[in-house]
Amino acid sequence: MSKRDDFTEATKRAMAERVAWRCSFPGCGKITIGPRMGQGEEKKSLNLGEAAHIVAAAKDGPRFDNDTTPEFRRSIDNGIWMCRAHARFIDTDHKEYSVETLRLWKIQAEEQAYKNLKLQDNYNFESRRTLIAIGFDLLLYGTWSSVKGNEWEFIVESYLEDSSNELKNYSDGFGSIEVNQRFISVESQGDARVIKSPIEIDYSTGGSELFRVKIEDKVIAKKPSGVGATIKLGDDGDLDLSGGGITRISGVEAAIQSIATSAGTLYGECFFDKTAGSFISELFHKYKDDVLLLESVIKLEMIRLSLVPRISSDNKNVTPPLSFIKEIVSVNIPSVVLVDSRLLMKLKLVLGDETEWVGNVKVFVLQK
Ligand SMILES: [Zn+2]
Repeated sequence: MSKRDDFTEATKRAMAERVAWRCSFPGCGKITIGPRMGQGEEKKSLNLGEAAHIVAAAKDGPRFDNDTTPEFRRSIDNGIWMCRAHARFIDTDHKEYSVETLRLWKIQAEEQAYKNLKLQDNYNFESRRTLIAIGFDLLLYGTWSSVKGNEWEFIVESYLEDSSNELKNYSDGFGSIEVNQRFISVESQGDARVIKSPIEIDYSTGGSELFRVKIEDKVIAKKPSGVGATIKLGDDGDLDLSGGGITRISGVEAAIQSIATSAGTLYGECFFDKTAGSFISELFHKYKDDVLLLESVIKLEMIRLSLVPRISSDNKNVTPPLSFIKEIVSVNIPSVVLVDSRLLMKLKLVLGDETEWVGNVKVFVLQK
């Protein structure tokens, strides 16, 4: 009897169809099916895609997890459709491509396929590109080129603003830039890391600008239950006395409340630590005319606040203020009209204890 928990043909087919037979690797989107050519092949199709296991099909495989059942390992939930090259790639470098990353990619690829279907749009490769923030000022669209351990490689698609020399300037000036600007935040992965050394830029690949970033390990998310008890605040940031007095909150409730506090503190305005706070006010005024872009840049900033540790103004290592968030799945902004100087954000999060949290957070935005 085989010890591999392989997918059935029907499962593979459904998996492929759910992403319109396109590779799910971010930025790839390669079509994996077409006609077989040649004599006698007129009625056949050629499939160059693979149903890759997220949790391995066998004990010695990549990302094997003893806690999963054979039924689960054979199920469609445990598969991600990929082109052959990327199916190999994720299995060779399986330490970098975690179960969580692959699940995220599967969801993203299905969402993309659904969007294309709904809009009956031409598949747009540009829509699979990702927005990337490097430091506080540099924003660009890039596509993944490769991941090797703690080294990420992207190809620049375009810069958000007319700033084509910025990446080079950033890299050239790496030794002298403020230490808290040494980070990269990637929207598609919901990941952000501290950058270790100057970014290498490579122009040798036929006119495109490729860059390589050496990064620190990912910060491990904490459980929201570890966020201490605090006093409940109202939407206006003042004490909530609606219960007839001060209300104490803890756990998830306290953690979620701290999102509004951290995101609503203006960067550099905190008396005790000039390196604390967020750029959400600034981003809001800059990008409010393009809500989709605004959602993306705010998501990047939230990713930074949950994953990038910093050096405080008195030289201490400070864990990220939102370190109880494991993943910012989505940031949705229903309206750019501020109510009482607050921006309503609908957030979908995975918390450090693996639970999902969906809800609204109102974040202070400085009026211009
Ligand atoms: Zn691919």
